[in-house]
Amino acid sequence: MTEKKQAKPVKAKKEKEFTEQAEINIGMVGHVDHGKTSLTQALTGKWTDTHSEELKRGISIRLGYADVIFYKCEHCRGSQAYTNKPVCPTCGKKAKKLRKVSFVDAPGHETLMTTMLSGAALMNGAVLVIAANEKCPQPQTEEHLMALKMAGIGNIVVAQNKVDLVDKKEAIENMKHIKAFLEKNGYKDVPIIPIAANFAGNVDMLIEQLEKSIPTPNFGLNKPLLMYCARSFDINKPGAKSSELKGGVIGGTIIQGKAKIGDRVLIRPGPEEKELATEIVSLSCSSGKLKEAIAGGLVAVGTTLDSSLTQNDRMRGQVIGNEKSLPKATTELNLELNYIQRLVTNVESKLNSNESAVLTVGTMAAVGLVTSAQKDKAKISLKNKVIVLPGQKIAISKKAGGRWQLVAYGISK
Ligand code: ZN
Repeated sequence: MTEKKQAKPVKAKKEKEFTEQAEINIGMVGHVDHGKTSLTQALTGKWTDTHSEELKRGISIRLGYADVIFYKCEHCRGSQAYTNKPVCPTCGKKAKKLRKVSFVDAPGHETLMTTMLSGAALMNGAVLVIAANEKCPQPQTEEHLMALKMAGIGNIVVAQNKVDLVDKKEAIENMKHIKAFLEKNGYKDVPIIPIAANFAGNVDMLIEQLEKSIPTPNFGLNKPLLMYCARSFDINKPGAKSSELKGGVIGGTIIQGKAKIGDRVLIRPGPEEKELATEIVSLSCSSGKLKEAIAGGLVAVGTTLDSSLTQNDRMRGQVIGNEKSLPKATTELNLELNYIQRLVTNVESKLNSNESAVLTVGTMAAVGLVTSAQKDKAKISLKNKVIVLPGQKIAISKKAGGRWQLVAYGISK
C-alpha cells in the first residue's frame, strides 16, 4: 500500500503588505535637449517628462523621480552582465538583485535653475548627460556641474549621449573636451560612457559604472529625522464626505534618520511661516506602502494636517524633523561667500549691496535683498523664513545678463 502524501494546507496568496524603498537618489542633470529624459526612460522604463506639460498648464514645476532595480547576471561577464531586468537579456538566466535606485530628473531649461538647485539637495550622486553632437560645455552643462559641485556631489558619471549622431573622430574629439571641462572644474577621473539613449545603446555599461562609481552613502539612520519636502498633495476626491476626508500628504526625500508611522514631527518654517506639528499616519513610495521610511527616492508622508495646507505643492521647500534636528527659522542670513568661476558665460558675478538675490536653501527658494556685501561675506535679508542646517551650502543666484544665474554659494556663520 502506498502511503498517501498528506496534502499540504493551501497557503492563501498573501498580498505583500510592504514594499521596498530605493536606497539612493541619483540625479539626471545636463543641458536641455541633451537627452536626460530619454536616458531616464532607457534606464528605468519610465518617462519623467512632466515638466513641459506642467509648464503649459502654468503650474509648479516638479522634479521627476523614477525608480528601478539594477541586477547582475552571475553567468555572464563584463558589462553585459548588468541589467535593469530580473532575467539576464544575454543568457536568459535569473539575475541577482544589486539595489533599487531612484533617478531624480532635473529640468534643464535655464529658467528652471532654482528647481535644479533644489533637486541637487536631494541627490547623492549624478549622471551628467552631455550630447556628443554639440560643443562642450553648453551653458546649462556648466551651470549644472556648478550646482553639483556646490551641493558637494563628488560621485558623478558622464553619459556622452547621441554618439549615434556623430562619427568616431567627432566622438573622440568631444570626449576630450568633456574631460578638459571636468578637470578644470575639479572633477578628475570621472568615467565617461558613450551611449545612445534613444535605442538604449550601452545602457548596460552605464549601469555597471553607476554601480561602481556611485555607492550608497551612509545616511546616519540613528540621527534625528530630517526630510526635504519637494511636493505636497490633497488626495481627497472633490465632494468627498467629511467623514472620509484624508489628511494632507507631503512628498520628499529623507536626508537623515528615519520616519515611522505614529511619529510626531515638526514642519519648519511652515506655510505662512507658522510652524506645524503633525503625526505620521502613513508612509509610501512609488511601489507601495512602507512600514518605516529612510533616505532614498520619493517618500510620501501621510499626516493629520488639513489637506488644504498641502494642496498644489504648498509644502515644497519645507523641512520635516523634530526639536533635535530642526534649527529655528530665520530671515536674516550672515554668509561666508564662495564665488563660482565660469568658463562659458562671463557675467558680472559679484554681489552688491541693495540688489536682489534668490537663495536656494535645501529645496526652498527664497527671494532676498543683499543688505551688505564684502569680498567674501554678505548679509542677506529674506522675504520669507528659511531653515538653515549647520554647514549647509546655500546657492545664491542673481540677475545677470537678463536672467537669474547661480553666482556663489554661502555658508551661514
Ligand atoms: Zn547572463
